Amino acid sequence: MKSRRRPYSEQRPIDTGGGVWSVPVPIPGNPLGYTLVYAIESPAGPVLVDAGWNHPEAWQALRDGLAAAGIDVREVRGVVVTHFHPDHAGLAGRVREESGAWIAMHEADLALVKLIRDAGDGVHRAFQADMLRRAGAGVVEVEEVTAEQPRPPALPDLALRDGDLIDLPGRRLRTVWTPGHTPGHVCLHLEDAGRLFTGDHVLPAITPHIGVYPYDRTDVDPLGDFLESLEKVADLGELEALPAHEWIFQDTAARVTEIRTHHEDRLVRLAALLAEAGEPLTIWETAGRMTWNRPWEELPAVLRGMAAGEAAAHLRTLEVRGVVRRTPGMDPVRFALHS
Ligand SMILES: [Zn+2]
Ligand SMILES: [Zn+2]
Repeated sequence: MKSRRRPYSEQRPIDTGGGVWSVPVPIPGNPLGYTLVYAIESPAGPVLVDAGWNHPEAWQALRDGLAAAGIDVREVRGVVVTHFHPDHAGLAGRVREESGAWIAMHEADLALVKLIRDAGDGVHRAFQADMLRRAGAGVVEVEEVTAEQPRPPALPDLALRDGDLIDLPGRRLRTVWTPGHTPGHVCLHLEDAGRLFTGDHVLPAITPHIGVYPYDRTDVDPLGDFLESLEKVADLGELEALPAHEWIFQDTAARVTEIRTHHEDRLVRLAALLAEAGEPLTIWETAGRMTWNRPWEELPAVLRGMAAGEAAAHLRTLEVRGVVRRTPGMDPVRFALHS
């Protein structure tokens, strides 16, 4: 599988067949490298799935890549955004400015975009700092994690719900709501071609970030949602996956099984870790004892913040399953195995 991981510089626009083009758009300075933007042709103009990061180089790559597919960006009819993250929604506003395209997003992520846009930078930062403190982060870590914020995405025109057909004349592109990575993440099922645009939900080699924000929330269970959304996608049958990162692959359902196993193993190890600890742990302490792709001590601040979100998501799922409980009256909140 490793051999298929190639840097952005080796990526090219590809005619994937059936009127669908894939256009790699760089994410400057990010190890993910690029977003795969898809253009689906229709008699009424092409529709894009995602748009890429808002950056001059990325904009150039999107415009040139579409041109290689014979598409003038001014012809674009609409942009369906799989979720509100900046590597997907970032350039949607720019495409709309050029072409008058509509932007569609699931209603749950649309609500988040509204929140982010209304809050403004200072409010968002204060909110984030408070959340980090409540998870047991240190003063310096709070400062480092909150230092950098991407620009908020454009406000979409259309709110999608599960099962909605996208406005794409002559084709059948259906919204499949797959919460987990974000509350309003969607996959898009091209029913007339047996293909699924998977966004970040199902990727061929990596798994998407699943976090709880604020970390100590008790009204959500994103990892539980994600595992359910994986099953939902597997139930669609054997579909070719067109993901937003890495590369196109053949069997979505087989990859779903691998991702589910990965998280179930992680949950088992987390329960064992809490048993060994012998005392209740904060979210931050838990994250520090879990296994990451680099030792915790070497993780840069922003990645520690995300690791804590991931730890919180796994703790929350164990709590919902009755394996873990939070110890009452403690600040910051602490978790222990259910005795
Ligand atoms: Zn994402
Ligand atoms: Zn992404």
